[in-house]
Amino acid sequence: MITHTPYWWEEAPPPEVPRTPVAGRCDAAILGAGYAGLSAGLELARNGRSVQIFDKGAAGGGASSRNGGIASGNLRISFSRMISTLGLERARAYYGEGIEARDDLARFVSEENIDCRLQRVGRFTAATRPEHYERLAREAEALNEHFGLEAGVVPKSEQSAEIGSEIFHGGTVRPDICGLQPALLYRGLLEVALREGVTVHTHTAVSAIRREGTGYELATSRGAVSARNVIVCTNGYTDGAVPWLQRRLVPVPSMILATQPISKTLMERLCPKRRMFGDTNRIHHYFRPSPDGQRILFGGRTAGNLQADGPAPHDHLRRRMIRIFPDLAEVGLSHVWWGYVAMNLDHLPQLAVRDGVYYATGFCGSGVVWARWFGRKAALNILGDRAGSSAFGNQRFRAIPFYNGNPWFVPGAVAWFRFLDRFGL
Ligand SMILES: Cc1cc2nc3c(=O)[nH]c(=O)nc-3n(C[C@H](O)[C@H](O)[C@H](O)COP(=O)(O)OP(=O)(O)OC[C@H]3O[C@@H](n4cnc5c(N)ncnc54)[C@H](O)[C@@H]3O)c2cc1C
Repeated sequence: MITHTPYWWEEAPPPEVPRTPVAGRCDAAILGAGYAGLSAGLELARNGRSVQIFDKGAAGGGASSRNGGIASGNLRISFSRMISTLGLERARAYYGEGIEARDDLARFVSEENIDCRLQRVGRFTAATRPEHYERLAREAEALNEHFGLEAGVVPKSEQSAEIGSEIFHGGTVRPDICGLQPALLYRGLLEVALREGVTVHTHTAVSAIRREGTGYELATSRGAVSARNVIVCTNGYTDGAVPWLQRRLVPVPSMILATQPISKTLMERLCPKRRMFGDTNRIHHYFRPSPDGQRILFGGRTAGNLQADGPAPHDHLRRRMIRIFPDLAEVGLSHVWWGYVAMNLDHLPQLAVRDGVYYATGFCGSGVVWARWFGRKAALNILGDRAGSSAFGNQRFRAIPFYNGNPWFVPGAVAWFRFLDRFGL
């Protein structure tokens, strides 16, 4: 039987947060209790501010406890492409911040004693076409030149040392990328935030934010709240409470399959170095061994009629997994789940401010590192701390033309990009 909640929840189920009265007034109100909202709240509380975080669902019920746990600080636009489109200075600033943010997550986890199985195992990116291999090699060279990352190039003839699959055309290794158990990271971060005095109201939706004098008035499902500052951390779960943001983000479902336990010998062949994996398709797939090394977790974008934590069509993803790893054809699945990632027109994470409201958002499927980083940056800005500055601050954050937040076109777009990937176009 397949379970339709995240595999991670077996070890770290969504934490229960004690229900407390909603205070009518606070220094800061935060929408969304994922990594971004909690990090923002933690920074503010540590600096003496009273903070209430509102989440319309359960704690961690958004993407933050259901992701793949690949801690990269990745950007969707490659470094080489960014150099040619945005110039070397900006490309270096963006990529440099990603590396800094990932190292900062590792520091935070260690300082707070959060046992989330964070390991610097590296990531192998597999070329789905021969010409992609050349592109990956150039990217590794550029990253090495500017950041000394020691990224390595692995030709097809040697790739069995990295992955037990015949279908790829070589790839590259980024040794600095980490894997972790996302629900344990979530639980640890929540515990630290609560301990430092942050109040988290789960199952409490915010339906509107209105400017009122020097602060804001929020309508919540448990009454009105006045706050001096507001931070919006709703990412792929953004709704009509923040229409400005809704017009800028497209929620795209991402799904993960967990296999039943496989033998040590098979795991040794499929993932000899227990790395994280990705491929070079537009609708790319990401996969990894579970932290205990017993299962393969295989993820990719999906589309269609999906219910929250209910059975979801997953044959397409399983077929792709078996094409990569034919050895898994006879292995059953134990878990299938999905959640929303938030894409935007510029394919960059966003630290935005509009009418005095801060937004930490748009992580394009790579928020394990970025969400914590930008949640904290938003808080530092409110505190007037110069450490809140970021290469991603004050950049353009374009609305999507003719879009009001209804992502009706996502299934068509996913099908179109899959078609392009299939024929190498
Ligand atoms: C299946 C999947 C796999 C992924 N894999 C990876 C990976 O391997 N590596 C990686 O880096 N990233 C990955 N991601 C992305 C990453 O998980 C997210 O970018 C990150 O968790 C976003 O955190 P967040 O705090 O911004 O948002 P979330 O954790 O999504 O939290 C947003 C919260 O806002 C709440 N909310 C929304 N509107 C309101 C409202 N009006 N009132 C109150 N609350 C509201 C929602 O209930 C939700 O809990 C993955 C995502 C998914 C879904």
